[in-house]
Amino acid sequence: MKIGVLALQGAVAEHVKSLEKAGAEEVVTVKRRRDLEGLDGIVLPGGESTTIGKLMREYDLLEPIREMGQRGVPLFGTCAGLILLARRIHGQEDVHLGLMDVLVDRNSFGRQRESFEADLEIQGLEGGPYRSVFIRAPHIMEVGTGVDVLCKFQDRIVAARQGNLLGASFHPELTDDIRFHRYFLEMVRESRCIAK
Ligand code: GLN
Repeated sequence: MKIGVLALQGAVAEHVKSLEKAGAEEVVTVKRRRDLEGLDGIVLPGGESTTIGKLMREYDLLEPIREMGQRGVPLFGTCAGLILLARRIHGQEDVHLGLMDVLVDRNSFGRQRESFEADLEIQGLEGGPYRSVFIRAPHIMEVGTGVDVLCKFQDRIVAARQGNLLGASFHPELTDDIRFHRYFLEMVRESRCIAK
């Protein structure tokens, strides 16, 4: 199993570490098109979605990653990565990958609480609450019919899955809890079984 972490900006090294700890056999960073070869799954980290989206276009990564997502390769977007996945962004015309049938709102948890942590129950993660780090986090305002809501916080959707697409408002790579990454690797294993 070979997983790529988009490495144009943001919390890249932390994702690589978490994926390795969660049992991924090979983890590579993705900076250019050829790095996508042979990947079974891709993580889109947090950072600043406008910047990452711009760099993805510049480095010719947007189209190939979109195609991979359409083909069923599992994609995991965290924070800005969730915004990259979204089909609609509140108050904004332009979207990036536009794959996941969700409407996201950026920076939606208020200024004075730009950064905070919360213990959340997440569907599919067993073993009690999951410590979640929110940094200028988006939330999901609306989901389409094919989207499963995995977690809500303050009545807002903060984690969801649509088939091979997984998105979280928070940063699972910033704690030692690797259950979310394990969940993603399980999605990758399942998709490889289906592909064979
Ligand atoms: N606020 C950022 C954006 O809109 C996301 C923040 C993050 O990834 N920590 O892109």
